[in-house]
Parts: sequence; C-alpha cells; structure tokens
Amino acid sequence: MHDKLAIHGGTQVRDALFPAHVTVADDEMAAVSKVIESGILSNYLGAYHENFMGGETVRECETRWAERFGAKHALAVNSNTSGLIAAMGAIGVQPGDEVIVTAYSMSASAVAPLFYGATPIFADVEPDMFCLDPASIEAVITERTKAIIVVDLFGQPFNVKAIRALAQKHDLKIIEDAAQAPGIQIDGEYAGLLGDIGIFSLNYHKHIHSGEGGIILTNDDDLAQRLSLIRNHAEAVVEPMGVTDLTNMLGFNFRMTEIEAAIAIHQLEKLDGLLQERWDRVSYFEQKMAGFPGFSLPVVRENATHAYYQHACLWDVSSGIQRNAFVDAVKAELPVFELREKEGVKLGAGYVRPIYMLPTFQHRISIGGAHDPLKSSWQDYSKGLCPVVEDLHHNTLIAHEFIVPSMAESDIDDVVRAFEKVWDLRTQL
Ligand SMILES: *Cc1c(COP(=O)(O)O)cnc(C)c1O
Repeated sequence: MHDKLAIHGGTQVRDALFPAHVTVADDEMAAVSKVIESGILSNYLGAYHENFMGGETVRECETRWAERFGAKHALAVNSNTSGLIAAMGAIGVQPGDEVIVTAYSMSASAVAPLFYGATPIFADVEPDMFCLDPASIEAVITERTKAIIVVDLFGQPFNVKAIRALAQKHDLKIIEDAAQAPGIQIDGEYAGLLGDIGIFSLNYHKHIHSGEGGIILTNDDDLAQRLSLIRNHAEAVVEPMGVTDLTNMLGFNFRMTEIEAAIAIHQLEKLDGLLQERWDRVSYFEQKMAGFPGFSLPVVRENATHAYYQHACLWDVSSGIQRNAFVDAVKAELPVFELREKEGVKLGAGYVRPIYMLPTFQHRISIGGAHDPLKSSWQDYSKGLCPVVEDLHHNTLIAHEFIVPSMAESDIDDVVRAFEKVWDLRTQL
C-alpha cells in the first residue's frame, strides 16, 4: 500500500494540521473584561495591610482551588517555579542542606534548592512509571538531607506509600511538583496534597492555564503563612506580623494578577471535563495500538488515576531498530498542531536531558563563586549517575501529546496509521 516513507520523500500519512488545543473561551473573556473594567489589575500591597494577601479575585481563586481539592490552604503565585522556590524557603532549607531531586523533569524541579544555597542530590526513577525510585532515594539520604522534591511525571502520581515511609523514618519534608498532574488521585488522595506542600502550574502548556501562574496547596498553617510571606516581600512585614523565625524571611514578588486569577477560576471549572476527554482519547489510542510490536503502552500505578500530560510509551529495543530513527520517521508522516506550528510535531524521543547534564551542574556554577553549593556536592555529575533516566532518555522513552482534547478519533486514526506505516516499512530506516 505505502511504498516509501515520508522521511525519504514518500507521501505523508497526513499533512493537514491537527486541530489547536485551546481551553479558553467566552467565559474567560468575560471574567477578564470584568477585571479590566474594575481598573485594578492586581491589588497586592507588599506591606502590613489587608491587601497583603492580594485582591478579591486572587482570594476567590484561592478559595475555589482549596475547596476543589479539599485543601486547608491554596496560594496563588505567578508560576510553579516560584512555588517550588517558595516551598524551599518555607520549609527552612539553608546552605549546607541537601534536597533529593529527580534527574528526569523540567529543570525547575531540581534547581529550586540552589536559590537557598542548598544542594540538589539526584536520585534515579522507576523504569516503568518514571517517578523517583524509593530505593534510589534511600541510597542518597545523608544526615544533611532535609527534603525530597517529588514530581508526578507525565501525570503519574509518585510512589506515595514508600516515599512517605522514607520521609517519616528520616524526618524529611516532601515537596510535590504536581505541575503535570492536576485532578488525579491515588488511594483517594489528590495529587498536590500528597506531600507537605504541592504545586500546580498554570502555564500555557499545562492541562489548564492562565497564561502563566501556579497554585500551591498545603494543609499546614505555619507553612501556608511562610509561603504567603515569601510570595510578597516578607522582610517588610515580619515585624508587624509578629513573625519570630526570620530564617528565609526574605520575600520575592511571586504574586499572581487579578487577570490571571479570573482566568484560573474558570479553568478550574473545566479541569474535570478536560481530564475525561484526555482519558477518552488515551483509551481510543491504546485500543487501536494494542498489539503494536514497537512499544509498550504506559502503566498506571495501583489505585491511581493518571493525568496523561504526555502519553509516555516504552520503545522495545529488542526490535533491533533504533528508536530515534523510528521517531524521526513517524514525525515526518504527521503534521504539527495549529497555533503551535513552531514547536514541531508533538512526538518526542526521550523527554528532557538528565538534569545533571545541564551546564549548571557540569560546570558546578549556580549561584556562583567559590562557595557555590555545587562545588562541594559529593555527587559526580558524569554519565552513569542515574542509569534509568539515561536509558529512558537516550534509548527507550517515546512520549506524545496526541491525546489532547482537541484530537478527534479520526485525527488519532492518522497517528496510528503513521506508526503502523513506519513499522511496516522499518527496513527503510
Ligand atoms: C511546567 C512544569 C514546571 C514549571 O512550571 P511553570 O509554571 O512554568 O514555572 C515545573 N515542573 C514540571 C514537572 C512542569 O511540567
């Protein structure tokens, strides 16, 4: 039927763009107009004042998010990255401390401790679920370890039982980067509330977004107060607020605007529907790909749901075909998404480089100077540090976003046809 792969000049399986995935509509537009009409686009004051905690819309947004997840506190910030940094400050991370991080995530999940002069210590991930491996964490705990930053990678919740047990045994805090996992549960508990502090991202690429933004959840009153101080110029208000522990009470401006908060309120209402649409597309794709010889489909942790930020499959290396060549050939058969043309075909060989391969770690220069926390780290950032991450990244992981809600079944059929075509013609690779 097909005689030539598109990568060799054959006809593409499809050239018409995939439909844009857009989650904002008239309701967000109306909410934003209302804020603009009010004339107040942000109503924070970095001083001891009732507006220290933000304007009306920010506070309403926080109430809605807290209620939705059954959290005691939700704090709106301007990004998940800010939330991670604030979390490090709130739990009292300081120079000399070590914080265990994953080598496989967006870089912010690993570098946050450095802003407080602490050292990130890398642990490896589970080969099938891609979250931090409890045994690998245990192997790098020292008397300096203060916390673990866990990531619900691709929307899979981390190994809660085992990692909580480790945290309890060694008196460590758990900070959960739930950027990719809003709305999923394990054993009836929501991602975002599985550790001491959890953080969602509302950047444009996430399940729901407000342009930029982040929501921090915690059930701990003291941590919530410290987070709110770090968010908004702590040093200026500790005195009138009667804060006595001044450690890390230097504040940033991590404030979310009223406009973003108005959008985030409406986006939250859409979360469940958008997750269900993803689940429908995943089940359609998986049913069509069942028995495909090239790779295995994602597994979901026991008693958990998965948010499928990306649908992460594992390439079967025993096929003898090189993964990158296969992925490049499939990409050549498929179009990009409307609105995101410049990002290329949403199919990846690997995910991101092991974080310790970034120049910051390779050169041990982060906050700079002879006392840089990376200069004294006992960890060796050479190849082999986290073998599972390296193998996933270089050889076996194939992740795609063809499960976003804008994809119709007929669009997914084209994706399946592309995988099948390249497999059938694999001798041309
Ligand atoms: C997107 C993302 C972040 C960063 O989120 P921002 O809101 O852009 O700061 C951090 N960690 C993970 C796992 C992410 O996917």
